[in-house]
Amino acid sequence: MRDIQISNAELRDAVSAEAPRAFEFLSSLVARPSLRGEERAAQELVESTLTELGFDVERLAVPESIGDDELAGVPAGSYEGRFDVLARMPHDGGRSLMLNGHIDVVPANHETWSSDPFDAVVRDGWLYGRGAGDMKGGFAMAVLALRALWRLGATAGRRNLSFLSVIEEECTGNGTLAAVRAGVTADAVVLPEPTDLKILLGGVAITWVKVAIRFGGGHAESSDRLASPAQVVSTLIDGFGRLEEIYNKQPLAPFDSIARPYNVNVGVIRLGEWPSSVPAVAEIQVRVGHPNEINDAEILAEVRALVGNVLKSAGDPEFDVSLHGFKAQAYHLADDHPLVQGVVTAHADVHGTAPETEVLGSTTDARFYMNQLGVPALCFGPVVRNMHGSDECVELASIEAGAATLARFILNYFGESVEQGSR
Ligand SMILES: [Zn+2]
Repeated sequence: MRDIQISNAELRDAVSAEAPRAFEFLSSLVARPSLRGEERAAQELVESTLTELGFDVERLAVPESIGDDELAGVPAGSYEGRFDVLARMPHDGGRSLMLNGHIDVVPANHETWSSDPFDAVVRDGWLYGRGAGDMKGGFAMAVLALRALWRLGATAGRRNLSFLSVIEEECTGNGTLAAVRAGVTADAVVLPEPTDLKILLGGVAITWVKVAIRFGGGHAESSDRLASPAQVVSTLIDGFGRLEEIYNKQPLAPFDSIARPYNVNVGVIRLGEWPSSVPAVAEIQVRVGHPNEINDAEILAEVRALVGNVLKSAGDPEFDVSLHGFKAQAYHLADDHPLVQGVVTAHADVHGTAPETEVLGSTTDARFYMNQLGVPALCFGPVVRNMHGSDECVELASIEAGAATLARFILNYFGESVEQGSR
């Protein structure tokens, strides 16, 4: 069948027929906990799945020197034995498209989950598991779209399509950055991140900051005469709250469409070892969402000033404020860009309604394509709940819906380029 003749009904039927296999793939992917540094098993499953789909698959190393790149996040450890997976169809010089997904997931606190976070379970049409939403469900959606197309004998996507599965999207972005630096790109990029079937077009600047304070500690008997590390931490948290207020005063477009685009999240506090000891050290790790007009050096200076001020009344202990992880710049793709319109049209064609577009107070790897390469990139993916939280889950029906949209988009995207070529 010629691509142009594939109807929406056929597309939807092909997606339904292939869905069980895609959901099995998703369950297996969830069962391979791809936490930072442990991505290999999940990447191997991605490799075999994409090979089966007809891609040429290779591993792309992330060089240890990536940390020296001005755009890199601060690496938390070595990249030895860790890799991106790059899957490519033959390229004939025509217009190209890349799908980019991150295989890494954030940690899960087993105690607060209703079931094992790394043992996928389906309840009421939702598949639960760490990463089910962010973003292994997107991998399943992309694979499902391609399987549906192949099932229908489509030629779109058999050339000029690539799939990049990266590490470290959740902490540095260095997986995608390494691929970008290695020259891996395309004319457009779609990231099947969980977007509730909306089109995500932009993200804010984000910097991770670590504060370490050396108090010295002492016996609890002397705690009335010593500075209270717990009190200091509490005062610092208030200070971070005030920074957040300042950043959110007058957000610039397009982020003024969000109530509070710049969240300053205290994600980690380490304090003390023993009830009868005054804590000797304190560590606070903060994720600072901020306007792009402020750079990471300025964020660091602001936090340093805040901590120095608070510690003055606590005996001036030694402290250190450093970057670790994210140093992400904001990005934004305009609503009226042809890539956005292409996904809007495909979705409206298959489902009858145009998807909303949005920006969020977070970031994605799309920023590297947008900011560094001038390549249009957007996120479009399934409906999820509790991303990064307990009982994270993805709605299976939305994986099918998103796959149908993506398949239609791929048909249109490559169909148009064939038409252009023949003109
Ligand atoms: Zn994600």
